[in-house]
Formats: sequence, C-alpha cells, structure tokens
Amino acid sequence: MNRILIVEDEPQLLRALTINLRARGYEVKPAADGTSALVAAGAGDIDLVILDLGLPDMDGVDVVRALRGWNDVPVIVLSARDAQAAKVAALDAGADDYVTKPFGMDELLARIRAALRRTVPATDAPIVRTASFSVDLSAKRAERNGQEVRLTPTEWHLLELLVRNPGKLLSQQQLLQQVWGPSYATETNYLRVYMAQLRRKLEPHPSQPQHLLTEPGMGYRFAP
Ligand code: CA
Repeated sequence: MNRILIVEDEPQLLRALTINLRARGYEVKPAADGTSALVAAGAGDIDLVILDLGLPDMDGVDVVRALRGWNDVPVIVLSARDAQAAKVAALDAGADDYVTKPFGMDELLARIRAALRRTVPATDAPIVRTASFSVDLSAKRAERNGQEVRLTPTEWHLLELLVRNPGKLLSQQQLLQQVWGPSYATETNYLRVYMAQLRRKLEPHPSQPQHLLTEPGMGYRFAP
C-alpha cells in the first residue's frame, strides 16, 4: 500500500483529501504545517508527498528544499491560481508536479498515479513510442512514419530529457540548465525556438502539439 503524506493547513481540505485518498486505498499521514511534515517525512516510509505551498509556519518551497536535502520522494505541490512564481520556485527546488487550487479530485488522483509510476525504476526498454513518432534512446535515433528524423545534438538532448520523464513537468530552468548549462537558466527564448523545431520535425500538427506540450510560464511536459 502506498503511503502519502498530506501537508495542508486548511482543516476542511485536509480532511477531504484524507477521506478521498483512504477510500482509494492509500495510507494517509496528515500534517498541518511544515515542521510536522518534515518530522513525519523523517520518520520514513513515505511514498509521496502532497504539499500546500501556503503553510502557517514556513514557506512550502523551503519544505521542498529541506526534503530534497535527504529524500527523493515524489512531491506534488498545491498552489493558488495566482502563485505562478511560487510554483516555479517549488519546481526548481525539486518538486515533481503541481496542481492548482481549486482542483478536482480526479485530477489530483491522476497526478498521484503518474508520480508513483515514475518512481518505479525505468525498465530496459530504450524505445519510447508515441502515436506520431518513436525515440530509440540507446541508438540515439528518432523516427517518424518509418523515416529517420535528423536532429541536432541540442535538439536530441532536449528531446531525450523530455521522453525520459514521461508525463512529468520539467521547468524551464531545469531544461535550460541541463541542455545549455547553468548560465542559461533564464534564456527561455532558446527553449521556445528549440521546442518549435522539435515539434516541426516530430509532431503531425506542430501548432497543436500532442506530445511535446507547453505549460505556459512553467515548463514543458512529454505526453507519450
Ligand atoms: Ca494553505
């Protein structure tokens, strides 16, 4: 059984989440502030953390940062609709995904399932297939309609990061730092240009991408 730590200071929401997740067979540990969340996480045996960013005792982003000092458990943050900067900061601190309040339970459950699936170690299947194209990670080849697609080393690096993290939101800063280097963390125009090139080469309708998705202001997500 998967054990989920829920960190939320609104008692009604905490109770609703606890009841819903227990009804789906998850074991739930509730926490109402950042300090008790870190204590609970330190006690071990947590498979996933759902973390509200607005907590009474500490900033949720600092909770993510503290957790990441010793723990790589998946973290889904809950944030207010207008808290764009906080969401970006949480992702950059090591959160895996975010859900914007108010959210539907089905949406949260889907994100939980996706995050838990990703913690299963990658299989030795190096070929990632979508309805439109396939990517052979070991041979470093991409194909569309049975034809090899030629990619530059930078395009390949960006594509590889995305397809190795199916369904996961990768922040602009993460992608820029990993593909171009630490000094490029704010050069978001690079990403826009290269994502447009990848879509032109791989997506059937580049202006309405099905697989290489933009999350405006946040980052990019590969949908298999
Ligand atoms: Ca709150």
